[in-house]
Amino acid sequence: MNPRMRSAVAFAAAFFIGATAATAPSAADIQLTPIVADVLWAPRPMRGSDARVHLVYELRLSNPTPFTLALETVEVVDEAGRVLLTMNKDTIGRRFSIGGRRGNEATSLKVGQFGVLFAHADFAADQPEPRTLSHRVSAVLHQPDHPPRPITVSGGEARVDQAPPIVLGPPLHGEGYLAGDGCCDSIRHVRALLPLDGRFALAQRFAIDWEQLDGDNRLLRGDPKKVESYTIFGRDVVAVANGTVVAMRNDLPEQVPGALPAGLPVSEADGNFVVLDIGGGAFALFAHMQPGSVTVQPGARVKRGDVLGKVGNTGNSSAPHLHFHVMDGPSPLLANGIPYVIDRFRLTAVSTGGTADFDKAEATGTPMSLTSFAGKPQLEQLLPMDLTVVGFTR
Ligand SMILES: [Zn+2]
Repeated sequence: MNPRMRSAVAFAAAFFIGATAATAPSAADIQLTPIVADVLWAPRPMRGSDARVHLVYELRLSNPTPFTLALETVEVVDEAGRVLLTMNKDTIGRRFSIGGRRGNEATSLKVGQFGVLFAHADFAADQPEPRTLSHRVSAVLHQPDHPPRPITVSGGEARVDQAPPIVLGPPLHGEGYLAGDGCCDSIRHVRALLPLDGRFALAQRFAIDWEQLDGDNRLLRGDPKKVESYTIFGRDVVAVANGTVVAMRNDLPEQVPGALPAGLPVSEADGNFVVLDIGGGAFALFAHMQPGSVTVQPGARVKRGDVLGKVGNTGNSSAPHLHFHVMDGPSPLLANGIPYVIDRFRLTAVSTGGTADFDKAEATGTPMSLTSFAGKPQLEQLLPMDLTVVGFTR
């Protein structure tokens, strides 16, 4: 037996023996762990228009063993031992991306692999907020010549960010705006984990693609290949808070709607955009605006409600919309996405057809399937949830 083989067997034996004690680690009794769990960024609570508080974050699970590890359940536990969320194998299979790559979902980890579990726990707004989270991960270790061995590991401790919510004005004025690809179970923004400059970043976690409905609940009327056909095209984009412009672009051409442009460099993804420093370490991104429409220059001080540009279809965009998100640094992509709330808005309707209906309505001009909002429509200091229809009056 060569030395490498011998150490592999010793490592395997250590996992096999240590597995029973892995549920109760203590400083005096350190064990090899068959699962390494870490939270990529401390979750920051988001207060949604559904009167619930949402924790949206990413749990990385790595397999340091020489065997295949099949995940069974992941429980999210707070400091009081309260189980906030249990993800079973089905849920894991939809939310666990090998290597953090969207579309690469699985429930098991091969030797040396890691995956990122896109977690979403929520609770009623009147419940106490957790201060810390931990994770109880149950899996089955598949060792050659041994029966499958169930294991449970606790890990991935993370503090919950207690910073007060960022309260903003709306990024648009008027009625009938649809919050597309919003929080928290849509995937295009929430799971946009990108490997950039040698690290992971997830700036778009709480992004919304704003579109607008006409009186017949259509996002467009006429030729879907023409930007002018879309209800929202050309609407004024307005500053959500007083702030200072830190970056902008104004020269990229409109894309033809219907498909994302091919071969676009990542630096042009936001099209014509404005980044606003809104203070307290928060920055707001307004993306995909019409060429030549951006009215502000870097260094300019703007006031809440000032016009920044017009809604267009520039950059990585397949239909005119306003992409808006808030992040913790000036780069629209190489930053961490943070939640915010809008101080006042009217929630009039919610989608009944989900993202598939939204995509169809955007591609073909069919009316959205909606139902009237059952609650009191005037809402304060909340974030419109995915596929809600809202109005922003001045
Ligand atoms: Zn977007």
